[in-house]
Amino acid sequence: MPNIVVVGTQWGDEGKGKIVDLLTAQAQVVVRYQGGNNAGHTLVVGQEKFIFHLIPSGILHDGTLCLIGNGVVLDPEVLLAEIDRLQSRGIAVGPENLRISERTQVIMPYHRRLDVAREEARGVGRIGTTGRGIGPCYEDKAARRGIRMADLVNPEILRAKVWEVLPEKNFLLEKWLGAEPFRPEDILEPYQEMGQRLKALLANVSVLLNNAARDGQNILFEGAQGTHLDIDHGTYPFVTSSNPVAGGASIGTGLGPRQLHHILGIVKAYTTRVGGGPFPTECLDEVGTHLQKEGMEFGSTTGRPRRCGWLDLVVLKEAVRLNGLTGLAITKLDVLTTLNPVKICVAYEVDGTRRDSMPATLAELERCRPVFEELPGWQADLRGVRRFADLPAATQNYLRRVEELAGVPIQIISVGPEREETVIIQNPFQG
Ligand code: GDP
Repeated sequence: MPNIVVVGTQWGDEGKGKIVDLLTAQAQVVVRYQGGNNAGHTLVVGQEKFIFHLIPSGILHDGTLCLIGNGVVLDPEVLLAEIDRLQSRGIAVGPENLRISERTQVIMPYHRRLDVAREEARGVGRIGTTGRGIGPCYEDKAARRGIRMADLVNPEILRAKVWEVLPEKNFLLEKWLGAEPFRPEDILEPYQEMGQRLKALLANVSVLLNNAARDGQNILFEGAQGTHLDIDHGTYPFVTSSNPVAGGASIGTGLGPRQLHHILGIVKAYTTRVGGGPFPTECLDEVGTHLQKEGMEFGSTTGRPRRCGWLDLVVLKEAVRLNGLTGLAITKLDVLTTLNPVKICVAYEVDGTRRDSMPATLAELERCRPVFEELPGWQADLRGVRRFADLPAATQNYLRRVEELAGVPIQIISVGPEREETVIIQNPFQG
């Protein structure tokens, strides 16, 4: 019966995909509530590696209904390619297991081109966008000139909207950014066709979810990116254009906030960041190289190497507060093996004073120096461990300290990429 929101507590790439996949086995409904195809969950099932950009990974489970909420921005080309790829591997995708909100905003080709051209124009001040049109699409949503899925599947409305928005987009592309403009016909034909292919998947996701909740089904809300990439609460402007925090689950799907029973925060045992922005615990030494190599910290969507550093409890405690976390899932604990000592950042020092919350401005965050607590490391391989009591004493000690500092119980520990490489302390669907 409980509904669970899974949310990243850091800057994304916490290993949410694996935890979502584990929990999906017990959920009847899995729903995405924000972001676009800049998410990139990687899942290893047996010998097969699956990368999901848009469709909830629940699609791998028989009988699970996957939903894409109104808070998502959807690139139909990417979605159709993802559907085709799954089907070519024998996984059927249709209205019985995938539904998309009629209110979901559509990423159009001019969004992608604007994204890339603007990022290039920024030069050294780049914010590290993935160039997939996600930011420009959210801009159009707020400006009330977005195209939604319900428009995409209606050829007449699509035509009218494209003709309406294109002159402004072309003006920006050509005159401001020096990029190629679009002719309406370049867009209309392929997008009308894609609309027809996707038409059968449209639904009122809010109604589906409310019905599922009324019927006592388990619903899993799958957050993309992470808390500190939240457009309101993150390290602005090095953020994404949506609200990954748990509150976004309600806005981005149309299920009221009282129905969000558990908020599970995914915490990677160290910290990573893609692209620019301040990162107080970043390690530019051999520890950073160890984390990058052992943790295979290269973006699954972009292939970009990630910046790596120690676990930051200031960051985590902020996530506890912003999301109202009820439990933690620690991931990639195995990556810390052989590091000695293991460090946790417990506070920042700024201009000689200690602080334990994140400042609102980048200038102040850039001046924050981490205050570390050092704990003994461990040498034993953790990947075979399935019970907390079988973890080395130093590992248990480390986890207890994280739990104590965060003030939220650890419910799941991931010790390897495979589904079974997991220690379950408390199943959030049963508590
Ligand atoms: P996500 O978007 O939050 O799912 O994060 P990523 O796409 O960066 O996925 C994390 C990567 O780490 C994937 O390649 C997973 O297979 C892998 N992974 C997940 N959990 C663990 C773990 O506990 N240990 C190790 N070594 N790898 C893991």
